[in-house]
Amino acid sequence: MSFLRRRNKEVAPPPPPTPFIEEITAQEYSLKLAFLARSSDGLRLPADPRMKTMLPSVVEPLAEGPVEVLDPVSHELADAAPSIERLPELQQWIAARSTVSPVALHALYVLESTDAVDMTVDSLAVALLQGETDTSGYPDYAAIVGGLASHWDEISGDLIVRAVVGWGGKGQRGDTERTARRLLSSLYQQVRATGHSLGAAAAATRAATGPERGGSVCAHCGFESGTDAFYCPKCGMRKVGREA
Ligand SMILES: [Zn+2]
Repeated sequence: MSFLRRRNKEVAPPPPPTPFIEEITAQEYSLKLAFLARSSDGLRLPADPRMKTMLPSVVEPLAEGPVEVLDPVSHELADAAPSIERLPELQQWIAARSTVSPVALHALYVLESTDAVDMTVDSLAVALLQGETDTSGYPDYAAIVGGLASHWDEISGDLIVRAVVGWGGKGQRGDTERTARRLLSSLYQQVRATGHSLGAAAAATRAATGPERGGSVCAHCGFESGTDAFYCPKCGMRKVGREA
């Protein structure tokens, strides 16, 4: 009986109720990033591959570094997105761009995350337009990157060219935004100054990609586009069996 008494003694009493404290001492951490981009309306250039190869030289006078040419990615990578929440797609996105410079990678990140370009169909002549790069070549958060995006018109086969710029900002509108607008306008004017422009493209100057596509598949590059397409917006080739 003595051991039973001893055990009863050893049972720990329930802990006293903790007083409810509304605020404890804590530190808060946050990161707010905002990327902004602007795209001009399209300008129509003749259906000639030389028009596309000319575009880097149009961007050059406005660039603070080399102009890089980025072709559209393979259609298998249509779902690859530069989003940290979707790791497998992000890994695909990075792998598809392993040969791209830090400036172009930053530009793609800004312009693709904001939907200013669709690299399953757009080609891009892109450069650092304003700002600094760090020692490994990556642009500042507030640097302005951009250039000319282009795709082929699905009906006429003309080259549709848009000026695009992108930059990071802390939700503040100010000098960077003004400079970006000025650069966008300069890029657009530079295209017109080539003397090759046939005028402004109709409102729907971006090739239609998305759930509504699936009319026909390009025999040359595999791109799926709407039923009305005579030309592939991605590679510019005439659709098989389509007469313009
Ligand atoms: Zn094609």
